[in-house]
Amino acid sequence: MILYLIFRCNCGRANYAKEGVLQKKCVCGKTFKVKDRKIIHRAPDAEKASELVRKLQEEKYGGGYFTTADKIRK
Ligand SMILES: [Zn+2]
Repeated sequence: MILYLIFRCNCGRANYAKEGVLQKKCVCGKTFKVKDRKIIHRAPDAEKASELVRKLQEEKYGGGYFTTADKIRK
């Protein structure tokens, strides 16, 4: 079963990557190796992973942060 791994970039943003993906680029522009990150959560699908990421962001930045979610999709 493929899992989605949830972790934080050095900038503090939560990100997720499909298990097996080697590198991930954060919205801050930094690229890092997924296996070097501390995994905070695991999720069974992308929908759950993005939900967990959203919760982590809300914990850190407050509920209004994801008004900029459109930027992440680009
Ligand atoms: Zn970042």
